[in-house]
Formats: sequence, C-alpha cells, structure tokens
Amino acid sequence: MAYRVATKCIHLEQQGVTCDRSGAVSFPIYQSATFAHPGLGESTGYDYSRLQNPTRQQVEEVVAGLESGVDGIAFSSGMAAVSAVMELFSPGDRVIIDEDLYGGSVRLFSAISEKNGLEILRINLAKESPEAYITGQTKAIFFETPTNPMMNVVDIAKVTAIAKSHGLLTIVDNTFLSPYLQNPLALGADLVIHSGTKYLGGHNDTLAGFVVAGTAKLAEQLRYISKTIGAVLAPMDSWLILRGIKTLALRMEKAQQNAFHIARWLEERPEVVRVIYPGLPGHPGHGIMKKQARGFGAMLTFEVNDKKLVEKLLQRLKLILFAESLGGVETLITYPITQTHADVPAERLAENGINDRVLRLSVGIEDISDLLADLNQALS
Ligand SMILES: *Cc1c(COP(=O)(O)O)cnc(C)c1O
Repeated sequence: MAYRVATKCIHLEQQGVTCDRSGAVSFPIYQSATFAHPGLGESTGYDYSRLQNPTRQQVEEVVAGLESGVDGIAFSSGMAAVSAVMELFSPGDRVIIDEDLYGGSVRLFSAISEKNGLEILRINLAKESPEAYITGQTKAIFFETPTNPMMNVVDIAKVTAIAKSHGLLTIVDNTFLSPYLQNPLALGADLVIHSGTKYLGGHNDTLAGFVVAGTAKLAEQLRYISKTIGAVLAPMDSWLILRGIKTLALRMEKAQQNAFHIARWLEERPEVVRVIYPGLPGHPGHGIMKKQARGFGAMLTFEVNDKKLVEKLLQRLKLILFAESLGGVETLITYPITQTHADVPAERLAENGINDRVLRLSVGIEDISDLLADLNQALS
C-alpha cells in the first residue's frame, strides 16, 4: 500500500479489521467484555476484551500502519505503555535512558524500575555516544526526540546503529512528533511508544498509549505482557483515538505552522531570553531533524528574563490555557518545574537547563493572530 501518510490517517481504517460487514465508514464501538464461541475449540478470533476487542484491534492496526510496524498494542495510557515495555527486562539488566525525558517516565524508572532491580543509566544522548556505557548487562536504550521539555534532538539512526552492533533494543518515545512527522522504526528502532493522549487523540479528551513493535517476536512478548497486566485501551477510547487520527495530518500541519510563528515572535521580545524550537535554524538539532523527520512539530520552550513574569503570564493568558498535557487542538502552556517535572530532582533539572523561568507551549490550531495577541497582552 503506497499511500502517503495523510491519506493513511483517514483510510487505514477501511483496510484493517474486517469483522464488521455493515460497510460502516466509521468503525463500530464493540462495547462487549466477552465474546461467544461457536463451539468447543472454536473462536471467532475474539474471546475476552482484555485479550482482543475489534475496536481496539482496529486502532492498533491503524497506529501500527502509520509507524510501519509489525504490530501495535494499545494501552490505557502512555505510562501504561512505557510500564509494559519495561516488563521486557529482568533484575540486573541495564537500560540506558536519555537525561531529558517526560517526567512520568523519569518517575517510573527511578521509583519502580530501579526497585525491581533494573539499573537505569542516564546520559545525554544528544551530546554523547552511548558506546562507552554499554556493558554485558545492557539491554536497551530509551529516549525521546525532540526531548521534553528542552527539545534536544537525538540522532535516531546513529543511536540505533550502535545499539544494533551490541544487540540492544532501541526504544523511542515518538509522542512529540507523532507518526505524521517521524517514524523511528524506519530509522532502525525496535519499539516506538506513543502517548495517544497527545497528538493521536488530539482533542485533550482521552488517555491512551501505544507500543509499536518492529519485529514479530517483540510484538508477541508485548501482547503477552499486555494481556497479563491488563492495562488495555477501552473500546470507546479506542474509537476516540481512531477519530482523532483522521485529522492528524491537518492538525499537525496547522499547529506546526503556528509554532513557527510564535517561535519567531518570541525571539523578538525583550522579555524572552531563550526560545528553544528545533524549527529555528539556530537550534543545535535543526540539521538532524531535517534528516530524520518530516517537520519540527508544535512544541516549543522559552525562558523569560524574570521569575515574576512567569506568574504574571500564567495569570494573564486568556486564550492559551495553563494546563498540563500537549498535542491537542488547544494551545496549552506548562510550567515544567511545578507540573510535568515536579518529581524530577532539582540537580537533574539544573543539568538539563530547566529553571523557574522556563515555560513550555504546546501550540494548537487556533488563528495565529489571536494566539499572538494573547501572548502580547500577557507579556506586556
Ligand atoms: C504524556 C506523555 C507520556 C505519558 O502518557 P500518558 O498518556 O499521560 O500516560 C509519555 N511520554 C511523553 C513524551 C508524553 O508527553
């Protein structure tokens, strides 16, 4: 199937699960916990919704198709997906992680994975090669690119080549760009994770997570973990993500265009000391992103010159909502130090340049002039 990604977002649904014979253009919500068997030793392919559900299977096939993976597995949230991936490892295994990650993943690794006996080693993959940190016990490298919130860019092909030469798995959390703009499996990664809550759903109304596997063996292991742990995506939520994906291409294009405008506008403001957006030619990861992604996304981070301005801004913004999360149609502003990164130790925040003057924008799809007017009235 040679369709381009924008077409796939809309039409993969018609090519996926075929259990429905009504011709429904929008895939039905199979709100059933269990499925009847025709006879002894027979199955329709559906037994119980923790194992398989047609609506969930449909969204899994669509997401796997967008990432060109062998299989996709849908979870009840992005963190459920990350947690399931960590179940691939055993006590004593070392997992190399990037220094700048979603705060919830940092908490999972330090509060749970380490307690379970994994050795989690943090390095800055945007700056250093993981080669020197690989031991006989090392099993995987886990990162996001661009990172959250500092927008560091990791060269996916470079890291996967090193990982492959040592037999390690490369796991990429691709939430920030979505499969519309970046496909890590095509660059050599083994597993791709999405918080479907963000761009895939796109409307800030549903929690979801996905793991897309590049090999049948990994897919089988993760299906086993998923049915055993049980943090699966509900039929209704699967449908909401299916619906969200239909406009993924349009939303990403518009949000990205708005993000460019805002990044350039903020750069001109005297109150702003730093704008970190990989689409700006001065960004250190700009060249790598041009090589490995089809765009720069709609997340940007900026630093104001005074902590007091943070309070003022967060109080005064009217259209732009002060809320956690990202990837929806609404523009949201986040204060990482007290929100997404509240559980990250102070010295790690400092190492990553996250201070009390840093704010993150998830740019939505509103009219750009209204967004700029809102920022202007709040900053001035
Ligand atoms: C939000 C997010 C997660 C966690 O996803 P939830 O759906 O909130 O559980 C993981 N990684 C990244 C990059 C995220 O932005």
